[in-house]
Amino acid sequence: MKYTELTNKPDMPAIQADILAFWKNENIFEKSISGKKAGEVVFYDGPPFPTGSPHHGTVLVSFIKDMIARYQTMKGFSVPRVWGWDCHGLPIENQAEKDLGIESKNEIENDIGRFNDACLDIVSSSNEAWREYVDQMARWVDYDGAYRTMSIGFMESVMWAFKQCYDKGLIYRDYRVTPYCMQCETSLSISDTRESDSTRPRQDRWVIVKFKTESQVDGKPVYILAWTTTPWTLPSNMCLAVGEEVDYAFVDMGDEIYVASKKTLPQYGKIFTEAPVILKECKGKDLAGLNYEPLLPYFADFKEQGAFKVVTVDYVDAEDGTGVVHTAPAFGEDDYWTCKKFNIPFVNPVDNRGRFTAEVSDFHSPKGEKNVIETNSDIIRYLNEQGKAVLDGTVEHNYPHCWRCREPLIYRAMDAWYFSIEKIKDDLLKQNEEINWIPETVKHGRFGKWLLGARDWNISRNRYWSTPIPIWECDKCSERIVLGSIDEIFDVSGTRLDNLHRQYMDKITFACKKCDGAMKRIPEVLDCWFESGSVTFAQKHYPFENKEWFDSHFPSDFIVEYTGQIRCWFYYMHVLSVALFNKPSFKNCIVHGTILADDGKKLSKSSKNYTDPMQLMKKYGTDAFRLYMFQSNAMLLGDLNFNEDGIPEMFQQILLPFWNACNFFISYANIDGFYATALKEPDSDNQLDKWMLAELFDKTQQITKAMDAYQIDLYIEPVVSLIGGLTNWYIRRSRRRFWGSEMTADKKNAYETYILF
Ligand SMILES: [Zn+2]
Ligand SMILES: [Zn+2]
Repeated sequence: MKYTELTNKPDMPAIQADILAFWKNENIFEKSISGKKAGEVVFYDGPPFPTGSPHHGTVLVSFIKDMIARYQTMKGFSVPRVWGWDCHGLPIENQAEKDLGIESKNEIENDIGRFNDACLDIVSSSNEAWREYVDQMARWVDYDGAYRTMSIGFMESVMWAFKQCYDKGLIYRDYRVTPYCMQCETSLSISDTRESDSTRPRQDRWVIVKFKTESQVDGKPVYILAWTTTPWTLPSNMCLAVGEEVDYAFVDMGDEIYVASKKTLPQYGKIFTEAPVILKECKGKDLAGLNYEPLLPYFADFKEQGAFKVVTVDYVDAEDGTGVVHTAPAFGEDDYWTCKKFNIPFVNPVDNRGRFTAEVSDFHSPKGEKNVIETNSDIIRYLNEQGKAVLDGTVEHNYPHCWRCREPLIYRAMDAWYFSIEKIKDDLLKQNEEINWIPETVKHGRFGKWLLGARDWNISRNRYWSTPIPIWECDKCSERIVLGSIDEIFDVSGTRLDNLHRQYMDKITFACKKCDGAMKRIPEVLDCWFESGSVTFAQKHYPFENKEWFDSHFPSDFIVEYTGQIRCWFYYMHVLSVALFNKPSFKNCIVHGTILADDGKKLSKSSKNYTDPMQLMKKYGTDAFRLYMFQSNAMLLGDLNFNEDGIPEMFQQILLPFWNACNFFISYANIDGFYATALKEPDSDNQLDKWMLAELFDKTQQITKAMDAYQIDLYIEPVVSLIGGLTNWYIRRSRRRFWGSEMTADKKNAYETYILF
């Protein structure tokens, strides 16, 4: 028998294509998970949006998932792995709006069914691109059996989970200030504003305005100055907040007196000149209770009810702005609570599209052309004309944007449904101790700290394409009922649904038990993170089906995603599994770093700062591409500035020498007629053999130790070093041993050592 001869110039992409075809034709992946095994290793795959396109980051995470699963397979375990799709949510809805040419939510409301059908079309049509990548990455995964968050089974499990949480007292409705997207017309959660680059620099107009108080000094009227970067909130100003112990200065401006925090005066040479004449100083608490005239007339009537006065709070920074916080209760969390505390009336003159209502007559445009942010310049101009603005300018600051439509967000008070993180926080922290984080620092670092600071979760969205919140309320009394399954819906309504999306769920109404009113579903749908957080049980339609499967597959042995998921997928899975089962949902959690463009910027499809990974894998072969990534800092939370030239280097430095080593062996073995029928360690006295075998043993141990502990960053170095030892040292020194036509004992030992690679 002879070994197949190799060429000197391997065409890696072509070789790979052959191997992929072989795997496919022989169902190698399926065989790897079936049959008698040492046991099963459980893995959950995080679901991507089907509309997203694969980039270097998604390729890296696929490589890592595959590498761990293959390692466990080599150790004799079965590692079933099922792909998943995150089918709901804003990205899909935005696409549907574009496809249908929809401009306002009214158009959707008129026919939610048509809108959701369009979403369904988008989700159903765009999955094939990923398959090609999955294949080219040489990743083994059950792609056809993928779970979908929009399937009826998945959604029913989510309904069940919601009801469980509700019954445990974890769900409540509240009126609060939340981040709000005017374009998507929905509230968002705090973590939405922390999605990758949601908070980023933006230029905004700022203005310092003067509020005329009812007080005078030396017969001159006293004005309090306040600075804001959201001039659009000024029409809703209801009070001014100052710091109790902050020092304020009364500055003589000739006919008038301006009041501002003393520490801020030097910043405003343009207002106060270099040497302001300070008539008087006082603490913030001395200003408390001072009344002032409304800056704009729209809500002047509220004066009698306690508006337009100075109050003291503990969040004023003496050096920020003018040390006075202009307060509009509907548009800031601090503002909201402050007004509540001091019984100051609440006004909210901004509609769902982010347009001023008719109450704010000067800036209300009947056709709603401008959202409130777009009116900033108009408002500043108007205040200047009225002599109420003292100074204005432009500032670049970090500002939250909608993570999907990329428009700037506003903060706005509205009704929303919340999940009480506060109530289960102790358990969240306790169960985190059970998780093995890789790297270890994440446990008490990024994840632990995130848990500590986590606030109640806004789980409702004022949207359409997601799991409807299964709460029905009476239109006459306060009766409320939560339904947690298709059967429960049938029991109260007599209708058996085979689709749980809004166009069907909203039609379910039934009589109130307490009065003659009708029970109607609340309009909100669930935040899609509630769905992805439910992957552990919902992918198998638990608890309606597969109870045994779930009991033996929860928690998972390992999951892998990039750092961004610490506050997202990892977090939401943890929240739901602790809330429902009081357990973590994963035993080992591997967090890898971020891949950036060559210049350190974020990879972006629109700025075309990276080559499609498919092209690179086809050009250089996937092995070189994978090696390049595995040798990078991105394996351990670091960033990799992706440089394409690194890929052929991997081929030249590692893969080709290894190929040549194999080639060398095959040529000589075929000449000598050496053919190993079984692998065994030779009993050789040769120092080179002894050293090489020791190296092999040592490196194998290192690799095993690293991989058993999921320390993926420690795995590649011993592999590369072993190949280096073989090619640079062992072969060079042993070359002569293969010469000559006789099969000596030494030559045989050399072959037997060599073949072990
Ligand atoms: Zn948006
Ligand atoms: Zn009722």
